[in-house]
Formats: sequence, C-alpha cells, structure tokens
Amino acid sequence: MSRPLRIVMLGPPGSGKGTRAHIISELYGIPVITTGDMLREAVAKGTEYGKIAGGYMSRGELVPDEIVNGVVGERLSMSDLENGFILDGFPRSAPQAEFLDSFLEEHGLKLDHVIYVTLDDEAIVKRLSNRRSCPSCGEVYHLVSMPPKKEGVCDKCGSELVLRDDDRPSVIRNRLEVYREKTQPLLKKYRDKGLMREVPGDYPLDQLQEQLKRILG
Ligand SMILES: [Zn+2]
Repeated sequence: MSRPLRIVMLGPPGSGKGTRAHIISELYGIPVITTGDMLREAVAKGTEYGKIAGGYMSRGELVPDEIVNGVVGERLSMSDLENGFILDGFPRSAPQAEFLDSFLEEHGLKLDHVIYVTLDDEAIVKRLSNRRSCPSCGEVYHLVSMPPKKEGVCDKCGSELVLRDDDRPSVIRNRLEVYREKTQPLLKKYRDKGLMREVPGDYPLDQLQEQLKRILG
C-alpha cells in the first residue's frame, strides 16, 4: 500500500474540478468527498451537526461555516479515509480553510496537494449553460460534448432533462462573484505553503489521466 494522499480541489464552479476529482479517485483508490454529499449524509444519519445543518437546509438557508466545519470534522473522522481523500467544494472560505488546517494538525495529518483548476469566465458560462441535468436520477449531460441519445430525455431513466437554475448564465455570474470574493483568497495561502498545482480546465479529456498522474507522482 502506498502512502495516503490528501488532496483539495480548488477552482471556480464549472472549471472541471469534479471530473478531475473522480479521475484521481479511480487512479489512486481514494474517495471524493463533496460538501453537498457530506451535508446530505450527516442530515440523513442525524449526526450532531447534521441535525443543525438540516434545519438551515429545510428553510432554504445557507448553512453557516461553523456548522459546515462541524459536518466536515465528523466526516473526516470516519475510518474509510485511511488512504486519504479528495475534498471537492471544501474549503470554500477562509474560516473553512482555517478549520481544515487545525483539524489536520490536531490529527497529525497533512495535505499533499491543492489542485487548482483554472478556466476563464466566458468558457465557464458556456460550459454550464449547455449542461442539462436529470431531476430524477441526477445524471448530467452536456449539449455539445455529451448529449443524451434522445434530445431532452435522460438515457438512464427516461425523465425529461432540465437546465438547473444554478446553471443559468445570470446565476453562474453570481456564483463566480461569490467564488472570487470568498474562495479565491485561499489561493495565496496554498501557494505560500507550496501545495498548489495549477491545471487548465480545458485540457483534453483523454489526456487527463496522464496529466494528473504526472502531477501527483
Ligand atoms: Zn435520469
């Protein structure tokens, strides 16, 4: 068994972080954990922080940093992460990054890489607004690069595909603003620590495996 690998994925929404996280996960056999999944699991299991987070979520409110941090702490303490993890969508703000630092330090762990996926705003808007999602099974399509076999219909379950509100151009621009304000300041921190590995978000898909292997060694 090789040594554990602990990775944080950073980059604007739509840059391709998730795609890369899943490739790394398959290459090295370590789980991808996303903030959304962690929150849903914690709520479903009724953990201490899950109960509090669930209250915010059921009211449609943003879950505050300290509650998200609590959920992440519960998740990172589980035993399936001995070989490492890939965090996708966390940390997203300075308080979250500080929490991650102190959690890892307390447990005698360290981050190995922060993979920063870059893509310019116009390319992001174009990419996300061409995305179509299945409201039933969650499958995601792309009108240009990964269209469904039958227009507007999910290949897997036959439901009608939708453009999620999150993927509408005006909403995407808002999400990019929030990213610039809250998440972008973390780049300097990780650059100063020498952890930052910057990769272009428009790198050819069929060469991603090789590229990521090169970076991660
Ligand atoms: Zn479906």
